[in-house]
Amino acid sequence: MSLSGQICPGFCGELLQNELMSRHTSLKVGGPTDLYAVPEDLEDLLLLVNWLDVNQVPRMVVGGGYNLLVREGGIRGAVISLEHLNRLEALGNGCIKAWAGAENLQVVRFGQQLGLGGIGFISGIPGTIGGAIRMNAGAYGNGLLNHADSLCLLRHGAVQDVDHSQIEYGYRRLDLQQGDIILAAILQLEPTDPACTEEEIRKDLELRRTKHSVGYPSAGSFFKNPPGQAAWRLIDAAGMRGQTVGGAQMAELHSNFLINRGNATATNCLELAEKVKQAVLATTGIQLEEEVRIVGEEP
Ligand SMILES: Cc1cc2nc3c(=O)[nH]c(=O)nc-3n(C[C@H](O)[C@H](O)[C@H](O)COP(=O)(O)OP(=O)(O)OC[C@H]3O[C@@H](n4cnc5c(N)ncnc54)[C@H](O)[C@@H]3O)c2cc1C
Repeated sequence: MSLSGQICPGFCGELLQNELMSRHTSLKVGGPTDLYAVPEDLEDLLLLVNWLDVNQVPRMVVGGGYNLLVREGGIRGAVISLEHLNRLEALGNGCIKAWAGAENLQVVRFGQQLGLGGIGFISGIPGTIGGAIRMNAGAYGNGLLNHADSLCLLRHGAVQDVDHSQIEYGYRRLDLQQGDIILAAILQLEPTDPACTEEEIRKDLELRRTKHSVGYPSAGSFFKNPPGQAAWRLIDAAGMRGQTVGGAQMAELHSNFLINRGNATATNCLELAEKVKQAVLATTGIQLEEEVRIVGEEP
């Protein structure tokens, strides 16, 4: 797809054409997107989305790119980063409004300053609130959407608040309508001694440093845990720990982390993931499902 002529007149943010997505994903693979846009603020985002929709340019939003695998053919249309929409607001009654581009640890720290907590489990999860809400990111059996009072969405061109009771979600899943953009989350926190939050943050970061550091680019756990099972155990049982395809490897240190040993391509990663799925199915009868979002075109 070629975007010719003036792109979105009046847009103030950054616009990059043919930007490699390997620069915006933690796995460090992926081809170019036709357009990579970073709006300055909400008004700028609304202008851009309207222009893209009127011109029938497909679009997707990216957070920190920590849960994303982009194929080598890249992404047709626009990828929008909300990194400048990162405000944090205290709303009273234990609620805070975290805009999509805010980073998870920043949000935990903001609550801590207000004497609020309950979401310390996201401290070490890399990425933004938009991505964490989209994925219902979590740890230790908890998920961020359990703590969302409501979501602020850009839906069909209008900013809308959606109450928690209207949100359908589950393990690493949130049901949205096609084209929805998460603008912000209103999080309901609990009164918490800042020292307790500090300890929670410290423990989480320490655990991740010791247990999850795999030394190479990854997107975290590649497969979801099937009900009642740990994906890494199934991968081990199938003998896939340490297996490689090209530069992609199931990490020796954490067998559900698919890592880029330096020169992996998206195709290497996808071929390895497929081998793992087939081996696990053959050994255990269980079908693994990717947690990582796979987008973009074939090479
Ligand atoms: C080392 C490591 C450890 C990890 N540990 C964990 C863990 O313990 N628990 C866990 O749950 N995850 C974990 N992850 C995965 C990842 O950090 C989470 O999924 C995180 O929430 C992704 O956030 P992001 O901002 O990077 O989203 P991205 O990866 O950029 O996007 C993820 C998906 O959300 C969509 N999206 C992003 N923002 C928006 C928005 N504003 N509106 C609509 N859609 C949007 C994207 O299009 C994409 O489909 C880990 C990853 C790594 C690399």
